[in-house]
Amino acid sequence: IKKIGVLTSGGDAPGMNAAVRAVVRAGLAEGMEVYGIYDGYYGMYHDHIEKLNRQNVSDIINKGGTVLGSARFPEFKEPSVREEAIKNLKKHGIEAIVVVGGDGSYMGAMKLSEMGFPCIGLPGTIDNDISGTDYTIGFMTALDTVVDAIDRLRDTSSSHNRISIVEIMGRHCGDLTLWASIAGGSEYIIVPEVDFDEEELLRQVAEGEAKGKKHAIIAITEHVADVNAMAKRIEEQTGRETRATILGHIQRGGAPNAWDRVQASRMGGYAVELLLKGESARCVGIQKGQLVHHDIIDCLTNMRRAFRQDLYDLSNRLF
Ligand code: ATP
Repeated sequence: IKKIGVLTSGGDAPGMNAAVRAVVRAGLAEGMEVYGIYDGYYGMYHDHIEKLNRQNVSDIINKGGTVLGSARFPEFKEPSVREEAIKNLKKHGIEAIVVVGGDGSYMGAMKLSEMGFPCIGLPGTIDNDISGTDYTIGFMTALDTVVDAIDRLRDTSSSHNRISIVEIMGRHCGDLTLWASIAGGSEYIIVPEVDFDEEELLRQVAEGEAKGKKHAIIAITEHVADVNAMAKRIEEQTGRETRATILGHIQRGGAPNAWDRVQASRMGGYAVELLLKGESARCVGIQKGQLVHHDIIDCLTNMRRAFRQDLYDLSNRLF
């Protein structure tokens, strides 16, 4: 294999640049030509493809976002659109690609593989919602960002004996909320994996107040409830000032932390090794500290991420 491409797709995540850099540098070290495909599958279809050299990926390991750009391109679900995209890759002589993105991006990679075009997926999303890996690229950096926000809310909540509700990203995965709650010491956790009962929450908040807690921070994953309406109800029922804070896209930004840089570099280097071995339709992960790879179809359809019940139970014990 002599020519490979790399793209980032779906929501951006800190560490994607480190992954791109690793793919480019590892590929060049093997004597390959490496092409950057800009704006994900959109750029693949519109032929936004350029050959990259060492310097093109200099000074990006520390940068948030993705220098290759990313796009949502639902048209890629159409086989005719993918055929056109493959034609563009072949025009440049590209024989295989590495896709850095979330499960939607993995779907695209799986479809390309099924059409005979070799792809390797790297898990790039802050949500930590991809099977076959313990951590996705961007998760740990987003976690730092969320914990920093919780620390700040704690300061102001304590000063005013206020109840704070913090809405945290994760789509249908509570990992970011769960880990941030433990690191930030927020006592009340609402995640999609556990049924939520508002009455029970109110009872716990009252219990916390009786214990002399000055602050009450409720961490909740996005899409579980309307946090502003919830704040209003809690304020009415407790008589305590209650505010909701939606952290939003702040969680996606910022320089990747050292962990994400290291894991993204490892996974990028590994993707090139797999392509050299002739692998396709595989997705890379890190499990128990080791680099692993799985079948993308398996990852998307059969494998389930285990909910970290141990962390959830721990947070209850530390209440
Ligand atoms: P995040 O988890 O951060 O949202 P993601 O990769 O899941 O990232 P999506 O928008 O779901 O983000 O997917 C990214 C892109 O992958 C889509 O815009 C589309 O181009 C492609 N894609 C998604 N689903 C499919 C599919 N079923 N077939 C082909 N391509 C797909």
